[in-house]
Amino acid sequence: MTKQEILLAQKEFIFPAVFNYFKEPLVVSHAKDQYVWDIEGNQYLDFFGGIVTVSVGHCNEQVNAKVQAQMNKLEHVSTVFVNEPQVALAKKLASITPAGALTKSFFTNSGSEANETAITAARCFTGSTEIIALRHSYHGRTSATMGLTGQGAWKLGPPQPGVVHAVNAYCYRCPFGLEYPSCEVKCAQDVEQVIRTTTSGRVAGLIAEPIQGVAGFITPPKEYFKIVTDIVRKYGGLFIADEVQTAWGRTGSKWFGIEHWDVVPDIITSAKGIGNGLPIGVTIARPEVADAMKGLTISTFGGNPVVTTAARAVLEYIEENNIRQNTEEVGSYLMNGLLDLKEKHRLIGDVRGKGLLLALELVEDRRTKAPATAATLQLMECARENRVMVGRGGLYGNVIRISPPMNISRADVDEFLLRLGASLTACEAAMFAGARA
Ligand code: PMP
Repeated sequence: MTKQEILLAQKEFIFPAVFNYFKEPLVVSHAKDQYVWDIEGNQYLDFFGGIVTVSVGHCNEQVNAKVQAQMNKLEHVSTVFVNEPQVALAKKLASITPAGALTKSFFTNSGSEANETAITAARCFTGSTEIIALRHSYHGRTSATMGLTGQGAWKLGPPQPGVVHAVNAYCYRCPFGLEYPSCEVKCAQDVEQVIRTTTSGRVAGLIAEPIQGVAGFITPPKEYFKIVTDIVRKYGGLFIADEVQTAWGRTGSKWFGIEHWDVVPDIITSAKGIGNGLPIGVTIARPEVADAMKGLTISTFGGNPVVTTAARAVLEYIEENNIRQNTEEVGSYLMNGLLDLKEKHRLIGDVRGKGLLLALELVEDRRTKAPATAATLQLMECARENRVMVGRGGLYGNVIRISPPMNISRADVDEFLLRLGASLTACEAAMFAGARA
């Protein structure tokens, strides 16, 4: 098909709710390592990684060789039969969870399903149905997970009974108008008020992303998760860490993002980066929590031998190539480069994140912090012109999300910063031209 035929077919045969970036959508043809090519043959430096999913480079040869061998051996049996790739992955996961405390896994096909499973398990374990989620969060597109999600634009269905939303730890736009650290992390303390005033006081749990992904990599202060987990446990609930974006070394040095806050969740959910592009979701729980989920349940493709082989190959690649260390080092190098860009470009109001999960929040005016939503769209177009891929997010659509494959080098970062800097310059020039007109 030609580019025009593809775009026409997209328009005619795909639900329009499947939105695309850019005024004219980008039609991708193929990809390798940190590069993506469009159908016209243009090469892009990919610093979004298919939404924080291509963790060890596009079409990673070491991973794909193992996947291809598994495809020729056994592709599918469903979970009513036992297969080695699934249990081997579960055994590996049990050995790397925080404090080795989460040892049982349930496999599905997506982050949404992983969170559905977590909520079900927490409800079975505690006997309570009430869940606390955070504002600005994103937890998926099933009915229940849209209910958990704390951003209006992503809620296409009715609210879900038994879900309440606490404020998030958004220091750049503090919900209480306070400053860290003199705020004494009031947002975390407020979870107790939320439980006492908006629930029965007996809760199944709190679900939170260590760093809020779709929200624009909002990163809570270091005390935050200890305070909220203590509160939630006091009221009988579990702490569910939604690590769909933050796991597998993405935040640097640690396997799981939550380890930076030094708390051990009762349940971790993940997806995205562990499959490097193949569809997988996983819910990992403390054994007594997993055991409480009694009754029949099945995910036909969950734990499929091909995707679980891919996931184990990704983890092996990360270990053998010191990728968590690389993410830490290259991530801090990139963070410094972004802070330099902030000195030069007044559009950048905030730089945040950890490891290779970094974001720029764009504002029209640093004093008022008015979200620069139109400029962010413009910057995306400029980045495309400069052949670099980044993501967009935030409640106001004014955050640039940066999450390249984790096996990139400092040279890739240098190239990225050049192209992003040029894009910011072009974008600011276009904005001023607009202002004069
Ligand atoms: N949780 C988080 C934190 C996510 O970022 C996402 C996807 N963006 C999901 C859950 C849902 O994952 P999926 O799209 O694979 O269902």
